Amino acid sequence: MKRITILALMPLLVLGQACTDTKENNKTEVQAIFPKGELGPAENFTGNAWNTRLVANDSTYNTVIGNVYFEPGARSNWHIHPAGQILIITSGVGFHQIKGKPKQTIRKGDVIKCPPNVEHWHGASPDTGLYQLYIIPNTEKGIVQWLKPVTSEEYNK
Ligand code: MN
Repeated sequence: MKRITILALMPLLVLGQACTDTKENNKTEVQAIFPKGELGPAENFTGNAWNTRLVANDSTYNTVIGNVYFEPGARSNWHIHPAGQILIITSGVGFHQIKGKPKQTIRKGDVIKCPPNVEHWHGASPDTGLYQLYIIPNTEKGIVQWLKPVTSEEYNK
C-alpha cells in the first residue's frame, strides 16, 4: 500500500521539479536587459557564451557595442583588441586577466578598460554567470584577434 502511494506521487514530484526549473529560467530571462543572442563559436570560447550585437560597426562611429552572457565556467580565448575594449559588467560574477598579471574578479557595476594590443581574456566564475556589455572603439584599427583557449589550469589559478 505504502509503495503504491509513493509510486502514485512520483509524477507529481517530477512535475514539481520541472516547475521550479522553469520558474528559475523565467527569473533569469526577466532580469536580463538584452536578448540572449547567438552562441559564440567553439573555436573562440570555452563553454557557452551568448552574444547580442547592439551597435554594428559603421564609418560614422567606428565603434562596436554588444552584450555577452557567459554561462558559469564559460570564458573567451586569449585575444587582442588592436584599439582596446571597455567592459561594463551588468550582472553576475566573473574574471578578467591581462597576460602576465593576476586574474581579477569582476562583478555587476565594474567598468574595465582593456588597453590596445594587450593579450587578455574574460569570462564567468565557475558558479555564477556573467553579463557584460563590450565597447570596441576605433574599429578602423581592427576589432579582435583570437588566440589560444584559456586552459583549466590558467582559469583556476
Ligand atoms: Mn576582450
